[in-house]
Amino acid sequence: MRCVTLSWPVAVVLVLTHTCRGAPASRAAAGTVTGLHRGPIQNDLTLAAEYLERYYTLGRERTGRRRRSEPTFAAKVRDMQTFFGLNVTGSLDPATVEIMRTPRCGVPDVQEYSDQGSKRWTKSVISYSIGRYTSDMAPSTVDHLIGSALNVWGSASPLTFVRSFSHNADIMVDFVTREHGDSYPFDGPQGTLAHAYGPGTGIGGDTHFDDDEVWTTGSNGINLYLVAAHEFGHALGLSHSNNPESLMYPTYMKRNQHNLLSREDILNLNMLYGTRSVLPYHFSRPSWNSFYKPWHLSPRFPLFLQDKCNPNLSFDAVTTMGESTLFFKDNYLWIKHDQQCDTKEGPIKNFMPKIDSDIDAAYSVPKKSVVCLFKGHKFWTLRGSQVRGKPKPIHKFGFPKQVERLDAAVHVDSTGRTLFFAEHLYWSYDEDRRMMEELHPRNISEDFPGLNTSVSAAVHRDGFTHFFIGPLVLKYDHKRKQVVSADKANSWLGC
Ligand code: ZN
Ligand code: CA
Ligand code: ZN
Repeated sequence: MRCVTLSWPVAVVLVLTHTCRGAPASRAAAGTVTGLHRGPIQNDLTLAAEYLERYYTLGRERTGRRRRSEPTFAAKVRDMQTFFGLNVTGSLDPATVEIMRTPRCGVPDVQEYSDQGSKRWTKSVISYSIGRYTSDMAPSTVDHLIGSALNVWGSASPLTFVRSFSHNADIMVDFVTREHGDSYPFDGPQGTLAHAYGPGTGIGGDTHFDDDEVWTTGSNGINLYLVAAHEFGHALGLSHSNNPESLMYPTYMKRNQHNLLSREDILNLNMLYGTRSVLPYHFSRPSWNSFYKPWHLSPRFPLFLQDKCNPNLSFDAVTTMGESTLFFKDNYLWIKHDQQCDTKEGPIKNFMPKIDSDIDAAYSVPKKSVVCLFKGHKFWTLRGSQVRGKPKPIHKFGFPKQVERLDAAVHVDSTGRTLFFAEHLYWSYDEDRRMMEELHPRNISEDFPGLNTSVSAAVHRDGFTHFFIGPLVLKYDHKRKQVVSADKANSWLGC
């Protein structure tokens, strides 16, 4: 049994923690119920308890006893119903039970608050190795399907997958049954089909298939190519999507095998690794350089990375988005994750295909998980990382007609207000009432002592508003009504 390291994604740690405490107990209970031939309601309850323990972190208390009491159980049912877009009743109605009976991936659908976001491989060449094969098909067929499933992701990213025959490949593929050494046993036919660990050392990236399933190349039994392509999404750092069109939807379903990735899958992959044509990342393992030198000289190597440490660099717009901060400049975007040292970067349209350049202002309302991007007299709304619908006119916010473009926008969570800056003026918008506050616009310099110029960009973080003014960033304390410190704008990108 390989050891758990802290560098694993939390989703994986949850799988292990959860199983050590919950699964054996629930398995014993399931056996008891079946043995007594109880009615279908009891079976549904057992099924649901087991399902919610596995995928919705039900009852992971240290006593090892399962908690079936309200309201936890009903709350978990509601979580599950919300995820799958069912009627949120909190009870085991037929639609809910039907999904619980559908074969699926073993990775949970929910993560705890402590989740630090997706991890990714910090290299572009990733090795894989197939250890134990299934006897359901010829080994050469397994080789082919596994290679093809990896290439689903490889063809949409700068990642290259290299077959290895070692036991220490980044992604170890194994067909196993029941207990198989990772404290997360499989469950016999149906139920859990496979699971995979997010990027990391040791067991990170490893992908296990339940060999109690009937693995096939077609549509009878379980299609290996489909399940493998889904699992490799986890091995690359992606989590479950509640959109049935996404390959990362957790339950097994038939799909068009020629076009497995949805737009969302590609966007999420590109958020982690950039796109195929741009390669923002360098090798982190010298050993791979010598092994794969021709690639190093190929035209795919980035030729137009921006110099983020140029002392004169200023930003057009800055906003948080989840646990990341986005920095816009001309047609370029840097994405800095709070918990990761490195920065993703590339042309804006690589991350947001509908948007090409020159974002004037951006802000996010974390409690609504909404980000707005402004360009000229239009703005786009993003939910998650996806641009929703067509751009709308900024006058919807209540600006007078003369306002043609904004300089900056920032949402202050403590007041629920969004501040918009244009030249020497600012407006205050009430997000809850969805209207501009009276007596605005006002002069920036009157209400923000120390700011006597127009603002390039602004973002609210850690209780302060940070105003980007040319190549400088000023940290502003609303309570004290003063600038408390100044720094180089690109210090935020580690310069
Ligand atoms: Zn999955
Ligand atoms: Ca199974
Ligand atoms: Zn496993």
